[in-house]
Amino acid sequence: MKRRTFLQSSAALAAVPLLRNTPPGATLALGASHAPLRVNGARLNGWLAKFDSVGRTPTGINRVAYSDADLAGRAFTLDLFREAGLNPRIDTAGNILGRLDGTDRSLKPILIGSHVDSVTDGGNFDGPVGSFGAIEVARSLREQNVRLRHPLEVVVWTNEEGGTVGSRSAIGHITPADLDKVARSGKTIREGIGIVGGNVAKLSEAERKKGDLACYMELHIEQGGLLEKAGLQIGVVEGIVGLRWFEVTITGFANHAGTTPMDQRQDAMLAAAKFAVAVNEAVRSVPGRTVATIGRMVVSPNTTNVIPGQVVLTVDLRDLDAAKITHFTDRFAQIGQEIGTATKTTFDIKQSVDTAPAISDPQVMAWIDGAAASLGFTRQRMPSGAGHDAQEMSRIAPMAMIFVPSVGGISHSPKEFTKPEDVVNGADVLLNTVISADRAST
Ligand SMILES: [Zn+2]
Repeated sequence: MKRRTFLQSSAALAAVPLLRNTPPGATLALGASHAPLRVNGARLNGWLAKFDSVGRTPTGINRVAYSDADLAGRAFTLDLFREAGLNPRIDTAGNILGRLDGTDRSLKPILIGSHVDSVTDGGNFDGPVGSFGAIEVARSLREQNVRLRHPLEVVVWTNEEGGTVGSRSAIGHITPADLDKVARSGKTIREGIGIVGGNVAKLSEAERKKGDLACYMELHIEQGGLLEKAGLQIGVVEGIVGLRWFEVTITGFANHAGTTPMDQRQDAMLAAAKFAVAVNEAVRSVPGRTVATIGRMVVSPNTTNVIPGQVVLTVDLRDLDAAKITHFTDRFAQIGQEIGTATKTTFDIKQSVDTAPAISDPQVMAWIDGAAASLGFTRQRMPSGAGHDAQEMSRIAPMAMIFVPSVGGISHSPKEFTKPEDVVNGADVLLNTVISADRAST
């Protein structure tokens, strides 16, 4: 051990005498201030560097769920659990779980973790940073003889990228239709769960009920560029945005492009164009972080010399605030009606996806804030525009997430990168948040 490291950990040791080497059942001084602890950052980054070769292809990381590379990634992860003394098990949904016992048997577990599967042609940081960060936190606690009152569970969820399959199973939100869906690996989810060591016939055994956990915390890369742009080290996630998808069918009348005068047309394409502009303006005119995207348009008959008779387009609407989502749902319908009247077309709007926002728990956010402050990190509160396993866990437990910057705001790409020091910062915040949660929550 280097002298500086020794002094640092000695200082930390002296500052938290009640946490360390506390005999089981002893009373702890709740809320006592303590010097922050640190993970072994070099070890954590070493694991990430090694993991970069698992599923690496010329076009990026390909550890899509249930593929051979996913299995190799899980084997790698299971080894890390074992080395950390976490004695891993695989639940019936295929999630990997490890546990450190606490000193108070009456307390519910604190759960931390993330995922190690990837998208097609993705990067090495989306998932592994939080998964290995959680394992490192548990290992550091053991090595530094910090005994928690609560049990600490570390989870690596299966198939996050295919629709948070592992975490949804853990809250009992998987339907038989979900199980029949074909994952990117070409296997059905039903088959996949078996491949990774789960058991579909006993899926309910993986379920946690509301109130079963003290809290859930997830460290993750931001996957956007806000932290980097603001020059901040840590994002305290206020929640994961809600999402609505709409399919809008605009019906006009297909007619000759040469013989139909401009004032006698029922041009569905013109109506779609006006609608796209109006949706954008409506969202931008209201302060906040709502985003709406028209990403797909199918034009009929899609021919150079025919006025379009029909356009089917999609709208993707997201916000952390459910009231805003409701507001814009109504507003888009109103805009459709107005443009329909003006262009002699009809608008039919159907909602196809509706996911409620997942709001972070204020107390868990305060612990993250406090941990980041004790470490001297700059930070801000922010929503997550991307989906995460944490959104599922928020349905049954107090939840919050810790974000670290993504270089260039790039993710789901082989160019995805988070600096080693930011990975360590995030894990240090997670470690100290766990300690705060352990001291405060019951
Ligand atoms: Zn992820």
